[in-house]
Amino acid sequence: MAKTAFVTGGAGGIGQAICKCLADAGHKVAACYIAPEKDSALQWQAESKAQGNDYYLVEGDVSSFESAQSMVQQIEKDVAPIDILVNCAGITKDTTFKKMKEEQWKSVIDINLNSVFNVTKQVLDGMLERQYGRIVCISSLNGQKGQFGQSNYSASKSGMHGFAMSLAQEVASKGITVNSVSPGYIGTKMVMAIPQKVRDSIVAQIPVGRLGTPEEIGAVVAFLASDDAGFITGSNIAINGGQHTQF
Ligand code: NAD
Repeated sequence: MAKTAFVTGGAGGIGQAICKCLADAGHKVAACYIAPEKDSALQWQAESKAQGNDYYLVEGDVSSFESAQSMVQQIEKDVAPIDILVNCAGITKDTTFKKMKEEQWKSVIDINLNSVFNVTKQVLDGMLERQYGRIVCISSLNGQKGQFGQSNYSASKSGMHGFAMSLAQEVASKGITVNSVSPGYIGTKMVMAIPQKVRDSIVAQIPVGRLGTPEEIGAVVAFLASDDAGFITGSNIAINGGQHTQF
């Protein structure tokens, strides 16, 4: 049955593919963007509409509780109560811990992890009342294994999965599932901007022999958001081409 989804960071590289996969599954989709991204977000919205997907767009900052509250209120007023939440907004500010400034630590934790509290908090009561919900956090391979120069990012992404495992246990009996997805290296603009030589060395570490595609992440998120995935909760699904395997 068609539901309403909210994808934070929905106008970004992976977010756009998640929105499309959810829309293709028949859901109404709302996405948020940050102010500096407005023009490209509106362009994506118009192009998507021309292709048959009419996304609802809202501007806001997931690192602010008040902004998250206002975005969810707007979506619930203009679209419908949110049944599916995808916490996808994220940033990197890479540097070794020795050189890391407080701002680099705090902004990454605020946008990647505290945002999960800020946004989930706005939708959970409604999901509990309706006895249905799907929450998916976009974590990362580097949250599973750690990465040189990413102590802030890896901490935030591991934290997302700790959150998913715990909340999953609290709401499992209420028809709500909470999972994380951990992409490896995906061929988004950000990754494609890495110099070819460095990218080649990354690809050499991926047994499948290529970068992942945003659509491969979107497809898994759409499955986790479906009714068929009702028995999957508190799980992390790694999507990394075999780069990091674990039981
Ligand atoms: P991206 O930069 O294209 O998208 C990130 C989105 O988050 C952007 O649209 C940005 O506007 C939004 N965002 C940033 N700060 C925000 C804020 N304060 N409030 C609201 N939105 C904000 O990057 P992407 O590659 O599409 O990454 C999407 C998610 O996937 C991120 O959480 C990232 O950490 C994760 N991820 C990406 C890769 C990869 O290889 N690209 C790998 C693993 C995990």
